[in-house]
Amino acid sequence: MTLAPRPGILEVAPYVGGEAAIPGRNRAIRLASNENPLGASPMAAAAYAGLKDELHRYPDGGAAELREALGRSEGIDPARIVCGAGSDEIIALLVRGYAGSGDEVLHSAHGFLMYSIAARTAGATPVAAPERDLTADVDALLERVTPRTRLLFLANPNNPTGSCLGRAELVRLRAGLRDDVLLVLDAAYAEYVDDRDYEAGADMVEAGDNVIMTRTFSKIHGLAALRLGWAYCPPAVADVLNRVRGPFNVSQAAQTAGIAALGDHGHVERSRRHNGKWRAWLIEALRALGLQPYPSAGNFVLVRFADAPAQSADAALAHLKGAGVLVRGMAAYGLPDCLRITVGTEQELAAVVAALGDFLGAGDGA
Ligand SMILES: *Cc1c(COP(=O)(O)O)cnc(C)c1O
Repeated sequence: MTLAPRPGILEVAPYVGGEAAIPGRNRAIRLASNENPLGASPMAAAAYAGLKDELHRYPDGGAAELREALGRSEGIDPARIVCGAGSDEIIALLVRGYAGSGDEVLHSAHGFLMYSIAARTAGATPVAAPERDLTADVDALLERVTPRTRLLFLANPNNPTGSCLGRAELVRLRAGLRDDVLLVLDAAYAEYVDDRDYEAGADMVEAGDNVIMTRTFSKIHGLAALRLGWAYCPPAVADVLNRVRGPFNVSQAAQTAGIAALGDHGHVERSRRHNGKWRAWLIEALRALGLQPYPSAGNFVLVRFADAPAQSADAALAHLKGAGVLVRGMAAYGLPDCLRITVGTEQELAAVVAALGDFLGAGDGA
């Protein structure tokens, strides 16, 4: 007999994050992980630094002060908030709490990779519904619901496609699901959306027993290193998450910095405005290079390359790396002819566009 993990574990393709360094280079331009190019709020950084004499203390296991702050800033009930070590942890806890062997976890074809990874690690079966124009298709999702479906994950806006469903489509999706299927609205990029028809999900959580919304401090708040996310839940779901999670799953550094970040409205607003302006610039510049960028509601742009091997996404990825620029390859998302580029600083975006121009032969007189 040999030591073996539970069935399904060895079928998990480990999540590969965006590259962060290029061997032999001091500083790479990092546009591969949708991090905030303006960094964290200085107020959050100061709060974090202020903890250095308290490192021997356990964190507040219930994250009470942070949940109160979130309740005030979002106008929601702190008792229904559960915090996690990134929203990735919340995703894993939800699957562990609600799905196991023989159960199905539904997501859209180019949805965030963590959904299928979390499903497999719990012994459940991920099921992908096809998309239409790289956008989640409510009818296709509903058609794939079976008696075994327990959870449906929808990133809205979606990473990596940037597409986003409006409120009416979300309501239609919920209405078409059985009451014993939990709809998880992953709103990691909610703060970047400027469509007035957008609803992150808090109202839908409050309207029923089987919708939950997840959020993160990793994106607009620029605190990815600290691992902080949260879920807004029906009371029974909050109870399940609180039983499944570790007693001290969120570090005090994350809680303290998170509270300060929520108070820095100026930083959030600057980050949002920077993103809106430079996302539009990036899309225009990519189009001018003859590439096919997709519209995006997030802080990144998905861009399609030509089929010709010399002009492929793979070749572009390698060329960019040679020029010191890291973006994200999309093969793991089933989009091998695309790359995903985070909306960086003005200088970073100028560098990526110049390197792509080089790659495509612009300026060689052709
Ligand atoms: C980045 C991201 C998350 C969150 O990540 P954490 O850092 O774990 O909070 C969740 N969902 C989507 C769709 C993301 O892109």
